[in-house]
Amino acid sequence: SRQFFVGGNFKMNPATQEQKRSLVKVLNEATIDPSVEVVLAPPAIYLLTLKEILRKEIKIAAQNCYVKASGAFTGEISPAQLVDADIPYVVLGHSERRTLFHETSALVAQKTRVAIDTGLSVILCVGETLEEREAGRTAQVVEEQLKPVIELLTPKDWSKVVIAYEPVWAIGTGKVATSAQAQEAHANIRSFLGKAVSAAVAESTRIIYGGSVTASNCKELATQPDVDGFLVGGASLKPEFVDIINAKK
Ligand code: 13P
Repeated sequence: SRQFFVGGNFKMNPATQEQKRSLVKVLNEATIDPSVEVVLAPPAIYLLTLKEILRKEIKIAAQNCYVKASGAFTGEISPAQLVDADIPYVVLGHSERRTLFHETSALVAQKTRVAIDTGLSVILCVGETLEEREAGRTAQVVEEQLKPVIELLTPKDWSKVVIAYEPVWAIGTGKVATSAQAQEAHANIRSFLGKAVSAAVAESTRIIYGGSVTASNCKELATQPDVDGFLVGGASLKPEFVDIINAKK
C-alpha cells in the first residue's frame, strides 16, 4: 500500500527569519503521525538551515532545479548540489513555474530525468486550468503533461516520483476541488499510468492533491481511495499544517 505523503510548499515565503523560526517551533513540538511521509519545500535560501533545525522525520525538498550539475547558469539550482547537501526531494513542474517562468512539459520531463539520475526524488506537478476543465479537457491536459515524463523514465524510476495533481483554478484561490473531482482526476492519472507505464507503477505511485487544502477540507479528501496525500501551499505556513499532516488520524 502507498505511504500517505504530505508536502508543504512554502513558495516564496515566509518573509522573515522570525516567521520561519516560529513555524519550525510548531512543527518540531507537534505530534505527527509517524506513518506519514512529510516533506517541506522552503525557498532555496532556507534549505540548509531548515534541514538543520527541523526534526529529522521531516524531509526537505527544493522547489525547483536545473538540468545541469554545474556551470554558467546564474540563478539556477543544481541538482548535484542538492544531493551533495543531502536534500532528498525536488518539486518540478509546479504551475507557477510553468506559467510565470514558461517551463514546458518537455523541460519538466528533462528536469525529472536529470533529477532522478542525480539521486533526487521528484514531486512532479500537473494540473489543468479552469478554462481547460470547463472545456472537458482535464484528463487530456494532464496526460499531455505526463507523456514526456513517461517517455524519459523507465518503470523503475517511478519509485522516485510522487505525482501532485494541482488544478490551477484551485491553487491559492480558496476554491478546493471537491473530493469527487479530486478522486476522478487521480483515478484517471492512475489508469493512464497503468496503460502508459505498467500496472505495478500505477498501483504503487503516490498521487497527491494540491490546491487550497486546509485543516477543514483535508479529512474528506483523504478518504478518497486514490488521494495519497497533499501538497499544501498557504496552509503549510500556518500551525494548521500539523492537522493536514494528521488528516488520516
Ligand atoms: P495553496 O495550498 O496555497 O492553494 O497552494 C497549493 C500549491 O500550489 C502547492 O504546491
